[in-house]
Amino acid sequence: MVFKNSIDLYKKALNLIPGGVNSPVRAFKSVNREAPIFVKKGQGAKIYDEDNNEYIDYICSWGPLILGHNHPKVIEEVKKIIENGSSYGLPTKYEVDLAELIVEIVPSIEKVRLTTSGTEATMSAVRLARAYTGRNKILKFEGCYHGHSDALLVKSGSGLLTDGYQDSNGITDGVLKDTLTLGFGDLEKVENLLRNEEIACVIVEPIPANMGLIETNKEFLQGLRRITEETKTILIFDEVISGFRLALGGAQEFFGITPDLTTLGKIIGGGYPVGAFGGKREIMDLVAPVGRVYHAGTLSGNPIASKAGFATISYLKENPNIYKELAENTNYLVDNVEKLAEKYGVDVCINSMGSLFTIFFVDLEKVENLEDSLKANTENFSIYFNTMLDNGIVVPPSQFEAHFLSIAHTKKELDKTLEVMEMAFKKIGEKNAK
Ligand code: PLP
Repeated sequence: MVFKNSIDLYKKALNLIPGGVNSPVRAFKSVNREAPIFVKKGQGAKIYDEDNNEYIDYICSWGPLILGHNHPKVIEEVKKIIENGSSYGLPTKYEVDLAELIVEIVPSIEKVRLTTSGTEATMSAVRLARAYTGRNKILKFEGCYHGHSDALLVKSGSGLLTDGYQDSNGITDGVLKDTLTLGFGDLEKVENLLRNEEIACVIVEPIPANMGLIETNKEFLQGLRRITEETKTILIFDEVISGFRLALGGAQEFFGITPDLTTLGKIIGGGYPVGAFGGKREIMDLVAPVGRVYHAGTLSGNPIASKAGFATISYLKENPNIYKELAENTNYLVDNVEKLAEKYGVDVCINSMGSLFTIFFVDLEKVENLEDSLKANTENFSIYFNTMLDNGIVVPPSQFEAHFLSIAHTKKELDKTLEVMEMAFKKIGEKNAK
């Protein structure tokens, strides 16, 4: 495969954009690659780069594209309004349509405010929780990523983990003092903390997917719900990834646990920029202009994004079998990867839920939190990633992210993926044998 055009673009970008990319993981730095691929287009389960190489895609824009690239139903709806105009800074019908669908489907949401990104949604939800409780401190879990607002960039996952650190520079001591962190799953410590300190909110990815995927224990989430209720602490489920992915109604429907506030993003924009936070009416009515918790945005609830999100969610709602099929396809891959690992003597622990999975290259029975996930062998991951890419499969360029499946990944794509995975595992096995 030739990567000349991508390499040239990267060289040019390096002089213009910090690190040549607009989001750090895209630089492919941790997988020892000369340059990332620059994508020209996508269709179904595939993307094509500027050198016209074709790849089966397991990033799927990091989650939004559960229907695959350019799904005809989404494109058809977007086309209907794209020539009308792009953004008005005034309300449109499409925002109301999307809000109605979200309120109908997500169990805990009675009212919802649309934003432009997931980062904005979590930032605003935390602000709202502070205003509602009159408390300052918040609790998050090590390795969970909730976007890049100051308060949430502490012991963070995703790109920070990939680049080998967890706390961003440029955050004041005051902010750091107010964000407390604990290990994911450690209910005893949560209980101890919440009973002894006034905490505004606990924010959690109900299925953490930013330290690699963690298979959440339902009892942990039930425990969080019980303790937060008893201590009048707001429980925020950050469902930016899990929303409309783990189940139509997200992780809260899947686990049958109702948080006070929920943050959404990704799928609700169908591939266009969007986010949302919502929850109990009583809390949401503190948001301006009803109350005095300020949130605003020039592009908040952008009509094109709202229309694409509406089309995506409507399709999911009308085809409820999708979730079962996605899980079956994921299991098919995971079962076969386990066989490959055994065949070539490669240590792995594979975590999977619904249409998400992570292959941790680690000699552990279970990866349950950040401490476990940090034990993974990133050198083996790098061999895996590069073998996949050089043979037409794009997987996340980091050990600490999840693979995403879409409905466009058919048996044909999965079998081709397994063929290349076999090459990768063989290489890793041979290296280990040396
Ligand atoms: N929350 C979670 C769980 C995420 O995975 C992400 C991004 O990946 C965010 C929040 C931030 O969303 P965005 O990238 O749209 O700002």
